[in-house]
Formats: sequence, C-alpha cells, structure tokens
Amino acid sequence: MSDRAPSPNLFDLAASLEVPELHFCLRPELGLEAIVVIHSTARGPALGGCRCVPYPDPMAAVEDVMRLARAMSYKAAISDLPFGGGKSVVVMNPGLRDRAACFAAFGDFVHHLDGRYIVTEDSGTGIADMDVIATRTSHVLGTSPDAGGCGNPSPSTAIGVCAGIESAVRHRLGREHLDGTHVAIQGVGQVGMALAGELHRRGARITVADHNPQRAEDCATRFGAAVVAPGDIHRVAADLFAPCGLGAILDEDTIPQLGAGIVAGSANNQLATAEDGRRLHERGILYAPDYVINAGGLIHVALWGSEDIQPRLAAIGVRLDQLFERAARTGERPELVADSMAEAMLVSK
Ligand code: NAD
Repeated sequence: MSDRAPSPNLFDLAASLEVPELHFCLRPELGLEAIVVIHSTARGPALGGCRCVPYPDPMAAVEDVMRLARAMSYKAAISDLPFGGGKSVVVMNPGLRDRAACFAAFGDFVHHLDGRYIVTEDSGTGIADMDVIATRTSHVLGTSPDAGGCGNPSPSTAIGVCAGIESAVRHRLGREHLDGTHVAIQGVGQVGMALAGELHRRGARITVADHNPQRAEDCATRFGAAVVAPGDIHRVAADLFAPCGLGAILDEDTIPQLGAGIVAGSANNQLATAEDGRRLHERGILYAPDYVINAGGLIHVALWGSEDIQPRLAAIGVRLDQLFERAARTGERPELVADSMAEAMLVSK
C-alpha cells in the first residue's frame, strides 16, 4: 500500500465522482502499480474489470479508474443486478516484467479487500490473468471454463447490443426488424465481430472499419461486410453507427461528421465530454447510452450459471424502449434519463 499523500485535486475529483474508496497497490520489486476503486456497495459487492493499459501519468490512471468505477455502479443498478460498482487497473509500464507474478500479487491485494471488490477482466486483461488471480482469491469472476468460470463475455455483450440496436431502430425508424438496415461498425474485435454476426443473421447490411485490417477483411469474408478506412467509418451514410472500438470517439470534431441518425454500440464512455451528449441531441441523433446497451458482458459474468442470462440480455432492448419513450416524452437527453433511472435503482434495491 502507498503511504504517499494524494494531491488535493485527487480529493476534489473523488468527491465530484462520489468515490469513497481508492486503494493503491505498489510492489516495486515486481514493477506492479495497481489501483482499485470502489464506488458503491449499496446493491452488493463492487464488481468491475481490471484494465492493464498504459497511462501518460498516474493521475490519468486514477481519474480513468474512478470514472469507470462510477459507470459500473450505474450499469449494475440499471441492469437490476445485485452488485455495486468498482474498477481496477494494473498499470502497463516497462517495469512490469513477470506478468503472472504481478497478477498473483494483485490477487493477494484484492483478497485483502474482503470481498467488497470482485475483479473480472477488462481491456488488456483476459481469462488467463483471472485464472492467476483465482489462485490467490475467490473474489474473481470471468475465469476460464476449465477453472469453472464463465469464459469470454463478449458474445453476450454483442447479443445485448443487438437487442439495443433493435430498440433504437424501432424507436427512430419505426421498423420491427433489421432486415436491410445499414449498420456501420467501428472496431470488429471481440464484440464488434460477434455483433456483425448477430446483425448478419438478421439481414442487416454492414460496413466496418478496424485499425487491424485483417479483422475488417475477416468480417467482409464471414458476413459480407463492406470495408472502409478507420477515419471514415463514422461518416458512412448508414442508418446506425455502432462504436465498438475505444471510448471518447463522440466529440466536437466527429459529431458534426456523423453520417447516421442513431449511435448505438458497445464501447465504454463513448461521449468525450458531457457536452457531447448535448451536441448529439442538437443534431437530432438518437444515442443509446453506453452503459445501458453494453451491459450484456456484466450480466453474463454476474449471473453465470443461472438461467436468467438470456432473458436479461433481451431485457436490454426493453429497457432502452422505456428510456427512449421517456426521453421523447420529456425532451430529456437519453443519457440523462439513463442516469436518473440508474440513480433511482442505486438507492432502491
Ligand atoms: P477488442 O480490443 O477485442 O476490439 C476492439 C477493436 O476495435 C480492435 O480490433 C481495434 O483495432 C478496433 N478499434 C479501436 N478503435 C478503433 C477505431 N477508432 N477505428 C477502428 N477500429 C478501432 O475490444 P472488445 O472486447 O471488442 O471491446 C470493444 C469495446 O466495447 C471497448 O470499448 C470495451 O470497453 C467495450 N465493452 C466490451 C465488453 C466485452 O464484453 N468485451 C463489454 C462491455 C463493453
């Protein structure tokens, strides 16, 4: 644990995000720098993934984990799951040498939080890391099927996103099916590729882009997708733009260039700033709030082993129906409706 005093800015940030708990794990001999944030345990233990990505400086890592932890509380609450929200990061730095030793030490650290935080995978971590953590603590989900875990949640995330896309298309285009609907997918990694498969099965027309050209070509071969350059995918004149790459891709530059009237995809934190929600709204673009539509992976991990998973994935579409109807009735922006629905669920279990 670190005993260095956080700067006053850190406290201000924690207060503004209503983050009560921030834990540092420093093991210089392993090159391990890790942070765990617990945002809420009001509905149950704080569940959230562990990222292993580089950051420009420590404060950027702290801020990212705090924002992500808060989003997890909202995602679990609006999905009516018996979990709170947390998140962690193992900072990817050149000093991080023995990955297995680092994740084992991180497992010890998670164990000492007594089950108030439950770790699972996220960007830059995978099932193998969770299996290592599981050698040190039981407070981990998303281990390999061989170890009794739920495996990769991405296909469930894609099923939930597809249900959300059906809702958005119903609401905005008045169509009860996706046959012939044109969807532009940004990023065909684990979720984007599975989403392309779901959409293809429903007769949608697909255009894709990926920084990894092989992935885009695979999608073209498997699902007949058209391929465009990564810098052009958001401009495609499609019915719907599905961001399935990284976050913060909706900003003051990209929003005026959007070619679709609906944005509905899996990426976390799609809006670069809160102001960008207003920009979308002013352009008349329907936005499916990210933490509502991409909750399928969390549902998969949280409810693994129960028969409730498929109905809960389908319920993402129903929840978005309610959310879009309320937004249309009140004139509120969808992401603000989502926040108020989640906040109500955070206090009423
Ligand atoms: P991934 O790393 O498997 O795939 C992302 C793909 O997007 C990669 O192929 C990458 O090259 C591409 N990409 C990134 N930015 C791009 C851009 N600007 N233009 C074109 N291609 C781009 O990740 P994933 O697991 O598929 O997750 C995708 C997104 O969904 C992430 O934001 C993730 O946080 C979010 N998410 C994932 C899950 C899940 O179950 N995997 C659950 C909830 C949310």
